[in-house]
Amino acid sequence: MSEDLAQRKPRAAQSLRDLQELGLIDSSITPELQAVADKYAIGLTPHIIEMIRAHGPNSPIARQYIPTHEELNVNERELEDPIGDLAHSPVPGIVHRYQDRVLLNVIKTCAVYCRFCFRRETVGPGTRGLDSAQLEVALRYIRQNSQIWEVILSGGDPLTLSNRRLSALLDELGRIDHIAVARFHTRVPAVAPERITDDLISALHSGPTTYIVIHINHPDELTKRVKDAIAQLTANGVPVLSQTVLLRTINDSAETLGRLFKQLAKARVKPYYLHHPDLAIGTQHFRLSIQEGQRIFSELRQKNSGLTLPQYVLDLPGGHGKVPISSSYIETKSGSQYKIKDSRGNSHSYIDT
Ligand SMILES: *Cc1c(COP(=O)(O)O)cnc(C)c1O
Ligand code: SF4
Repeated sequence: MSEDLAQRKPRAAQSLRDLQELGLIDSSITPELQAVADKYAIGLTPHIIEMIRAHGPNSPIARQYIPTHEELNVNERELEDPIGDLAHSPVPGIVHRYQDRVLLNVIKTCAVYCRFCFRRETVGPGTRGLDSAQLEVALRYIRQNSQIWEVILSGGDPLTLSNRRLSALLDELGRIDHIAVARFHTRVPAVAPERITDDLISALHSGPTTYIVIHINHPDELTKRVKDAIAQLTANGVPVLSQTVLLRTINDSAETLGRLFKQLAKARVKPYYLHHPDLAIGTQHFRLSIQEGQRIFSELRQKNSGLTLPQYVLDLPGGHGKVPISSSYIETKSGSQYKIKDSRGNSHSYIDT
């Protein structure tokens, strides 16, 4: 990397030209890469650019954000709406798949754009989130359905909303008696830790009990600045959990994931979900088989404290929801006689009740 580049103050990157100027892609932009950029948003925060400078353009961090021509390889099983959100969307912005909780997607912009994103067909800087009339309709849906206990703010990335909009929204949710919890699914603490400020924390306390679920995929993402941002949340009464996407060439080993989950637990973050990669279009190069995932997860179960282990889940296409897919330990069952294998693979018989 040239010296003047290293000295330049980092700024956000949003196009192939930005990446080129930063020396993160080749100097000639191929038509294939241009086609990828025309279809899917590019976005890297100054923090992520700094991280890529530290770890290199082929590092697991870089590969999550820098587009490649591989995204043009489309497999016929891949889907525009890989987890079937549309099948469960009663009004714009709401996905109501499970009885006591809804997703509320107010905004479709993110701080970064991940190359494997399961919502890659709908997120981007040019897309519009809900306008005020649509948001009112979504809030009315939540008010009128008293079985809804929790609102999950997803997107896009809900922490790209301004503090003013966040506190107004949480204030509205706080006025609904049956809403106990507002949960944020966000990448912001890991990719733009400077966004975690006292003002944001006050905004997060404007309504129901707030939880943050950080999307984080590799131990190198857990820098001192990110840990400080997390500590600011937990010290101020905002519980933090994490979700990780299992990704080929990024975190597909028990060693890498084990380090990530242990460091998270040490930083007071409970690992919550490990997602098997979804069938998003052009993401085949990131996927691995369920069998490989199960092998990695079994190794994690053997070597790592249960405190550090998330649930390994698959979100079924068609809107059928999440299911745990860590390998089954029950080998055979006949009447009340079970054969159950332990985490080393040895079988034991067990007689039920
Ligand atoms: C993943 C998801 C949730 C959250 O599920 P939990 O198991 O409660 O974390 C809620 N609604 C939808 C539509 C989802 O996809
Ligand atoms: S931050 Fe989340 S929604 Fe946004 S591009 Fe990444 S995975 Fe997709």
